[in-house]
Amino acid sequence: MTVKNPKAAKNPKTRHYQDPSCAYCPPTVRACRQGEDRQRGPGFCPSRIAPEAIDDAFEHYAEPFVRKVAQESARVESEGYCRWTRVEEICAFARRMGFKKIGIATCISFVDQAYTLSGILESHGFEVASTACKHGSVAKEEIGLKDSEKIRALFLLKSSRNIEIEPVSLPASLDPSMVVQSAGRIRQPRRSRWGSSWHSGSSGHK
Ligand code: SF4
Repeated sequence: MTVKNPKAAKNPKTRHYQDPSCAYCPPTVRACRQGEDRQRGPGFCPSRIAPEAIDDAFEHYAEPFVRKVAQESARVESEGYCRWTRVEEICAFARRMGFKKIGIATCISFVDQAYTLSGILESHGFEVASTACKHGSVAKEEIGLKDSEKIRALFLLKSSRNIEIEPVSLPASLDPSMVVQSAGRIRQPRRSRWGSSWHSGSSGHK
């Protein structure tokens, strides 16, 4: 039996760990910091459960690009740890790697922050590409979800040609203060990846 939580097994002799569980490693152990995990690591230590997998992973460091990423990131850490911001570290790492272009993948809720970051990176001479998680505007109906399973059921509605208004009921869990303006749900025809379907309008993807 796999015991994920070591405290859950009363008899230590019945514990048989199959899954690594670093989350439960006591602060007084954490032997990997001293390079002693295979000797002193707990029974759930990944270094003891799956040493072959760790050896296999280590072989990837023989690849020149992977090795350089590991080396330069360690050098950046050594030089700026707890002194540089993450943005400064990114710039230093990118310069060491010889990168000219940096990509930003951001949550739609952090596009304003991505704007700032993009400007900072450009001011340091990098070319920047960015994309938000909602790009493509794939509605959740297209993966089989209902309105009641989304975090936002009602949105600002604007009248427009070829838009059908369908009344919807609020899910019990919805905070009424989240509702900006209610009237119904915008529906308009759209070509789906899995065939023609109806889905909520451009503001209905949450
Ligand atoms: S690798 Fe092993 S020693 Fe290090 S934190 Fe995880 S369980 Fe603890």
